[in-house]
Amino acid sequence: MNYAQIRSLDLSNGEGIGVALFVQGCHFHCPNCFNPETWDFNGGKEWTEEVKNKFLELANRPYIKRISILGGEPLAEENLDDVLDLVNRIRLSSPKKSVWLYTGFTYEEIMKYEYGTSYINNVNCEALRQAIFCQCDVLVDGKYIDSKRDLTLQYRGSDNQRLIDIQRSLQKGEIVLWQV
Ligand code: SF4
Repeated sequence: MNYAQIRSLDLSNGEGIGVALFVQGCHFHCPNCFNPETWDFNGGKEWTEEVKNKFLELANRPYIKRISILGGEPLAEENLDDVLDLVNRIRLSSPKKSVWLYTGFTYEEIMKYEYGTSYINNVNCEALRQAIFCQCDVLVDGKYIDSKRDLTLQYRGSDNQRLIDIQRSLQKGEIVLWQV
């Protein structure tokens, strides 16, 4: 995986003081995307073991309450293995911090995978997407739609995008919106 940027102090992509990782590469190409330089999977910088450890150190600082993973597209096939490894590591090293995941996929698209489905076509990607999602706390879902742009919205760009409380949604079996 490549990454576009690490923010060691991030106040805009989630609640409270956080760190943010912008991964590199996105297939969606939403018109008027805020970050088109992150589309090319060959762009950005290499996500090495050393960079990952540094990011985890930044996330472990006591005043950091949130870790945001965005892009680019964290759930693009090319990024799945490294993003899953990262959330696994975050859950071990920072289990109490809130993990926010931004993706162009919707909650319904991520949830459509059912365990036990045979290993064909893109099922492996779907399983990996769901495995990442299940370990996060807040999902900001859906592609950016320019005609639905709303500058008054917190933490998202267009009003089709939802802030979803992942753990409560999984418990209830239906979407529970995240609330401050
Ligand atoms: S999903 Fe995000 S990064 Fe990808 S094109 Fe849309 S707004 Fe840009």
